Amino acid sequence: MTDTHDIVIIGAGAAGLTAGIYAARANMNTLLVEKFVPGGQAALTASVENYPGFPDGVSGYDLMDGMRRQALGFGLETTTAEVTGIEHTDSGFRLGTSIGDITTRTIIIATGVRPRKLNVPGEQELFGKGVSTCATCDGAFYREREVAVIGGGDSAMDEGIFLTRFASRVHIVHRRDAFRALPTLVEKARANEKITFHLDSVVSSINGVDSVTGLTIKNVKTGDETDLPTEGVFLYAGLIPNAELFRGFLDMDDQGFIVVDNSLMTSVPGVFVAGDVRTTPLRQIITAAADGAVAAHSAGVYIEDHC
Ligand code: NAP
Repeated sequence: MTDTHDIVIIGAGAAGLTAGIYAARANMNTLLVEKFVPGGQAALTASVENYPGFPDGVSGYDLMDGMRRQALGFGLETTTAEVTGIEHTDSGFRLGTSIGDITTRTIIIATGVRPRKLNVPGEQELFGKGVSTCATCDGAFYREREVAVIGGGDSAMDEGIFLTRFASRVHIVHRRDAFRALPTLVEKARANEKITFHLDSVVSSINGVDSVTGLTIKNVKTGDETDLPTEGVFLYAGLIPNAELFRGFLDMDDQGFIVVDNSLMTSVPGVFVAGDVRTTPLRQIITAAADGAVAAHSAGVYIEDHC
C-alpha cells in the first residue's frame, strides 16, 4: 500500500461508514480501516427506535449493514487491520498498521467507544461465561432464567427491556436512586413486570466457577449485601473512548474523549474526528452519522486548501 490516500478513516461504525459514503461519493481517494467487523456498537443494538425514517424501528444490524453496502456502492475501499501508530510526514501522515504502513493526507478517527468494566471479583474470569456486554448477542441464552443489568443509563434501560423477551426476571442494578437514562425509558422499564430495580446498589462480586451462578450486590446506603440468583450479567455502566493510541498526539478531555472544533478538526490540522470518540453532549447513531458527513466534508476542504 504505497499510494498516498486523500483520507484514511479509522473505524467502521456509523461515523466511519457515513464518512466513507460522503468521501467516496465525492471521488476522494479514501480507505476505511477497521480492525474487527463493520457496524460498531450500533450493530449490536436490537432495535433502534429514534433513527429518522424508520417509524417502526430498525434493527441496529440492518441499519449498519445498509450503511456498509451504501459505502461500498460508492466505491469505498476498505481493509481489515489494526492501526498501531501515527506520525507526521512531509505530505501528511503515516499510520502504522498490522498490515504495514499507510500514508494519507488526512485522517478521520471514528474509533468509537467500548463498554466500561466494573473491576469486581469474577467479572474477568466469567466474561463470556455469563458476563456479557451485548444483550442482542447473548440474551437468547437466558430463556426463563434470571439476569442482571448493571447501569442506569439509556443502554441499561433499553437492553433491560429487551432482555425481558427471554428472561424470567431482569434485575437492574444501579448505583444511585436517580437515572441518567431518559425518563420515558425509565418509565417503560418500571412498567415492565419482569423488571426489578435495585437502586443505590453496586456489584460486590459476580459469582460462579465455570459459569455465573449469582451476583452479590451491596446497598451503598445501608451496607447490606444481597445475593441475586442471576445466570447472566449484562454490563451497561457507560463507555470508554477508544482513543489511547492518540494520547499525547491529540488534545483530549479529562475522560479521554478527543477535543474538536466546529469542523470536527482536532488539535492537529488534517486529523478529524467523528462519532462517539469525540467530546459531544449526545452520543447517538444519528449524531455519529452526521459527524461522518461533516468530517468527510471538512477533510475535503482541508485537502483543497493545504495539499
Ligand atoms: P451512560 O449514559 O454513560 O450511563 C452509564 C451508567 O452506568 C450510568 O447510570 C452510571 O451511573 C453507571 N456507571 C458508570 N460507572 C459505573 C460503575 N463503575 N459501576 C456501576 N455503574 C456505573 O452510558 P450508556 O447508557 O451506555 O449510554 C451511552 C450513550 O449512548 C448515551 O449518550 C446514551 O444516551 C446513548 N444511548 C442512547 C440510546 C437511545 O437513545 N435509545 C440507547 C442506548 C444508548 P451514574 O448515573 O451514577 O453516573
